[in-house]
Amino acid sequence: MRILVVEDDDGIAATIRSALELAGFLVEREANGENGWFRGDSEAFDAIILDLGLPVLDGLTVLKRWRKAGVATPIMILTARGNWDERVEGIDAGADDYLAKPFRVEELVARTRALLRRAAGHPSPIIELGEISLDTRQVRVAKSGLPVPLSPQEYRLVSYLMHHRGRVVGQPELTEHLYLQDTELDSNAIEVLVRRVRQKLGTDAIVTRRGFGYGMGLGPE
Ligand code: CA
Repeated sequence: MRILVVEDDDGIAATIRSALELAGFLVEREANGENGWFRGDSEAFDAIILDLGLPVLDGLTVLKRWRKAGVATPIMILTARGNWDERVEGIDAGADDYLAKPFRVEELVARTRALLRRAAGHPSPIIELGEISLDTRQVRVAKSGLPVPLSPQEYRLVSYLMHHRGRVVGQPELTEHLYLQDTELDSNAIEVLVRRVRQKLGTDAIVTRRGFGYGMGLGPE
């Protein structure tokens, strides 16, 4: 899961980044509205955290442009405390949630998880699929109730496929959501990652649809 953070304050951005990374997410950060708008418009993210007070292009304008262009990514806006009218305008412009500064970063992480699971149609922070369960709060995967140690990248693969269970996910989509933009990737990186996860979760945990992609919770072929 890859998250775009558009925040001009270096300190706040660093705090958000480390908290989200600890929660198992990849983070891309932009410090002004123009660059943030461009990336949100041209790349696929699982969620976007958007400060409204931004240089070059303000956050509300960025938000409105994305929604007008059909960007459907869940978006949380960050506003100055007391600016209730700004929050109302942001929500009306298509924001899914907001946080007023200063906020506890734990709350930001919890709300981000909630945004992601709502977008994927899951009511609970624990997603279960047969004997496999994904606990997004504890950043943990278990099989038949026993924790299975996964690397951060392996966890992100399982998390993405379980949030999108029942759907075949192509390699380009996985690459986009599981790696930072400037990562140099071997052409078989996803294949190798899938193989490693199968070794830990069982061969049939991830289904391959040759020529199309991978999925969890797919019906029989
Ligand atoms: Ca700001």
